[in-house]
Amino acid sequence: MPPLVPRIGIVSLGCPKALVDSERILTQLRAEGYVISPDYAGADAVIVNTCGFLDSAKAESLEAIGEAIAENGRVIVTGCMGGDEAAIRENHPDVLAVTGPHQYEAVVNAVHDAVPPAHDPKFDLVPDHGLKLTPRHYAYLKISEGCNNRCSFCIIPNLRGDLVSRPAAAVLYEAERLVKAGTRELLVISQDTSAYGVDAKYPLSKWHGREVRAKFIDLARELGSLGAWIRLHYVYPYPHVDEVVELMADGKILPYLDIPFQHASPGILKAMRRPANQEKVLDRLQSWRRICPDIAIRSTFIVGFPGETDEDFEYLLEWLREARIERAGCFQYEPVAGARANDLADHVPDAVKQDRWHRFMQAQGDISAQILRAKVGRTATVLVDGIDDETGEAIARGPWDAPEIDGNVFIADAAHLTPGDMPRVKIVDALDYDLVAQLLD
Ligand code: SF4
Repeated sequence: MPPLVPRIGIVSLGCPKALVDSERILTQLRAEGYVISPDYAGADAVIVNTCGFLDSAKAESLEAIGEAIAENGRVIVTGCMGGDEAAIRENHPDVLAVTGPHQYEAVVNAVHDAVPPAHDPKFDLVPDHGLKLTPRHYAYLKISEGCNNRCSFCIIPNLRGDLVSRPAAAVLYEAERLVKAGTRELLVISQDTSAYGVDAKYPLSKWHGREVRAKFIDLARELGSLGAWIRLHYVYPYPHVDEVVELMADGKILPYLDIPFQHASPGILKAMRRPANQEKVLDRLQSWRRICPDIAIRSTFIVGFPGETDEDFEYLLEWLREARIERAGCFQYEPVAGARANDLADHVPDAVKQDRWHRFMQAQGDISAQILRAKVGRTATVLVDGIDDETGEAIARGPWDAPEIDGNVFIADAAHLTPGDMPRVKIVDALDYDLVAQLLD
């Protein structure tokens, strides 16, 4: 049985580039729910990021691996000296895996093998297929751990505890390092991004000698000054989010909000014990669109929650048609071991859940398709994620689409582009979930 909260230690040797590599590995692992252990004893496995530039650095790396094996026993080696697996295995035959420099995906796969992630597709942004590592041009930026809410279907607060926000300076220094290393898009994640800093009453910390408050609006403003795309995930529709939408209207951060509404029927939201369910959400959406007409809202919903009647479900569909949000994922309710919602009466039969899920997807599919069609003829800056070598087509995303969970913009005749490029394009066609564009430059 994997540990409830998997813990990984890391020893980082070598130059600043190796340090950025370690940061990227840690960022990815944190996005997947791993906790970083500050000591050997508390870690389920330890990564040693080695340096192999000079003989003395190799000796230091071998010594560090030896120490990690003696203190913890479960060691994954990566970094420059990882290119010489034979030398490592000759000295330390018991290491679990050896990967070379910049092999982020291989390191994370080795961690998955050694200590499986505590993955829950309903709550994690990282998709369950392949747990792909983010490429260099985008990165997840986790701003807090845990959650102060107590949604009845969720056990994250039991697993990860109450909200603990990182100091604003720590987040900003990490963000800055990532941008310097080539990251073009930062995806801000947490369990409840709009609650950032509330746990410690918005403390100040010094970033480049200047005090910055650990508060949602302040952090968003400072991140917006770094010159990268800033995308906000897991925001709840509290009134103070209005200020952040103004930053979007000013072009400081992406006009995109990921808000996990989960439902719309007041009775179900109450049974779910959702935060911000009293707020007038449809009014709020309208006012955000007045402030920032280009804003894209993405969300997730649960159908078939215990006690969900036909009326509740119809209410949800009607709400969806009125809200006209750009993207919506939908899950059928599944009882998570330990969640209080399991004790609620009137569980919904599987066949009904299935039928509601299909109807939800159909309704949202129609809305999304209409919204995409309205984009045809517009111009936009997009971020290239990859190139299809066979067709020469670039696979990119616009400001309204997050990687992995939203749609793509396909650009023909773009084999000369590389991931991380940000060309201007004209949207020429709309598919069910994706857009087709032509290069303008
Ligand atoms: S907001 Fe609710 S669903 Fe999200 S982590 Fe907190 S308790 Fe779980």
